[in-house]
Amino acid sequence: MRLISLFLLIVLTCCSSPKRGELKEWMEPSGRLKVLATTAMIQDLVQKIGGDQIDILTLIQGDLDPHSYQLVKGDDEKLGFANLIFYNGLGLEHTPSIYLALAHNPRAIALGGEIEKARPDLILTYGQDVDPHIWTDVSLWKLAVPSIVQALSEKDPIHAEEYRRRGQKTYRELDALDQQITNIMQDIPEEKRYLVTSHDAFNYFSRRYLASSEERADGSWEKRFQAPEGLSPDSQLSPYQIQHLIDHLKTYQIEVLFPETNLNPDSILKIVDAGNKKGLNVRMATTPLYGDAMGPKGSDGDTYEKMMLHNAKTIRSGLMEKK
Ligand code: FE
Repeated sequence: MRLISLFLLIVLTCCSSPKRGELKEWMEPSGRLKVLATTAMIQDLVQKIGGDQIDILTLIQGDLDPHSYQLVKGDDEKLGFANLIFYNGLGLEHTPSIYLALAHNPRAIALGGEIEKARPDLILTYGQDVDPHIWTDVSLWKLAVPSIVQALSEKDPIHAEEYRRRGQKTYRELDALDQQITNIMQDIPEEKRYLVTSHDAFNYFSRRYLASSEERADGSWEKRFQAPEGLSPDSQLSPYQIQHLIDHLKTYQIEVLFPETNLNPDSILKIVDAGNKKGLNVRMATTPLYGDAMGPKGSDGDTYEKMMLHNAKTIRSGLMEKK
């Protein structure tokens, strides 16, 4: 029993929190800004701008779901130690423990909140809920750059010029990535440009890359994306939700549904099974998309750019695959 407990402890420690060495290194005095990012996508963006002038650590690591992440032992120490904390906001980190630690923290900056202040017209809301998955549209995500440059420069004015220069470079790189993804999606015939994934992570992506400019203008772009699970993943599906999805697949002649790397594919498999029983010809894509979590080191999703290109190419090959 003790051996099993020890094994579990080792597994939990190694896979759900920063590696011990990484944390120790981050906490060592270095003269650089100590920055904490809640997600890997934020870490990637802030690192590009901060360069060698910052030491950055990611709070929610690996495949953990940021929607349901609750602070664990040791997180308070990281939050207290950081000179600056960048988080997504817009309701992504919403469990009480993490929300309370971030919401009124003067060292914490909600990048989603900053983007919303600059361009409220681009933020999607559904009733009371705001869609927090802003990183899936590169043209929207790049709007976080000025807030990061400003926050780093205020804390570390000596290096302000470097932050400004790297911010401009990052902005240009994100523009190029946005164009690259647009081009990949244009390879897909318009009548096939319909995406279905496990949960509602791809609304911004679909509005930007799958819809026509007319659809974006009149709001009908929403037909380009559906997911059985809502803005926060929850694999409980009602018969109504299943029927709604099947009707959608039928209307737009959709044949491929995409699982996500950090979610159980059960909800997708349920829809595929129910659809095929009703005479449709649908299948689950063999390669999952990166939704709320990036890939592990060494994978094709270990940077924001690689993750976005993986998603675009996987969607293109899935939707264009001949049966
Ligand atoms: Fe999500």
